[in-house]
Amino acid sequence: MSSPDQIQRLLFDDIDVRGAIVGLDKAYAEVLARADYPERLQILLGELLAAVALLTSNLKIEGRVSLQAQGEGAVRILMAEATHDNHVRAIARFDEGELPDAERLDELLQNGRMALTIEPKDGQRYQGVVSLEGATLSDCLERYFSQSEQLPTKIQLAADGKHAAGMLTQVLPAAGTGSADWEHIVALAQTLKSEELLQLDNETILYRLYHEETVRLFESEDLIFNCDCSRERSANAMQMMTQDELLELAEEQGGAIEMSCQFCNELYSFDTADIRALFHNDGRLNDEGSLH
Ligand SMILES: [Zn+2]
Repeated sequence: MSSPDQIQRLLFDDIDVRGAIVGLDKAYAEVLARADYPERLQILLGELLAAVALLTSNLKIEGRVSLQAQGEGAVRILMAEATHDNHVRAIARFDEGELPDAERLDELLQNGRMALTIEPKDGQRYQGVVSLEGATLSDCLERYFSQSEQLPTKIQLAADGKHAAGMLTQVLPAAGTGSADWEHIVALAQTLKSEELLQLDNETILYRLYHEETVRLFESEDLIFNCDCSRERSANAMQMMTQDELLELAEEQGGAIEMSCQFCNELYSFDTADIRALFHNDGRLNDEGSLH
């Protein structure tokens, strides 16, 4: 199969095209273990994870890339993130009960909106709107790159609940758009079936598609599930409310506010003493964390 939990960048030698191939196995299982996702959503989450990992592979800066969608259909929220050092996480919120048989992404996320966000560690955050008028996630992302970024891109995604995989091929930003060479690369990429993307190793995939081209494969990089939530981040989020509001809420909830991370289920608890400390220490948490 495509190398599990690894991402590998590639570059065509004679054409201005770059790319990457990603496989997710354990990281995918970790995401699916957080909730009882219906099969259709398991597949969608796999595709989403592969997509953010691929989009991050081209990042020239340190930071994170996320894809977030909200809809009014059976799927309410879909979100995945990847960082420059290949930490990924993803989550979906959906209506309990049967998910419709809808194959199309725009039916699952009715009246949906999707955003692609790039957050550099230092620097300004960038957000683009990905139109959800498409049958699949890859359709939507390809259209986004060609229309919003003028960057002809082919994105192939596959997932089956156990493995997720993806392949990206993209014209180099400096190379301008569209050419006979690019059409040729896309035509070949289109012959790759989902099963092949999930089952074949990277070298075999590249040989199978591009044995007539010279393609440089860079060293594989490991990819892991990791959630960067923390007690401090939860505390920061709480400070959207006033101290009085928080104390009242804690009282209502039996003496402490419990915040659980939606990505990893980690629970952060703040009792009334913790809440007071938040506001009496320049709003910052003690290094001690919990006072108890
Ligand atoms: Zn977390």
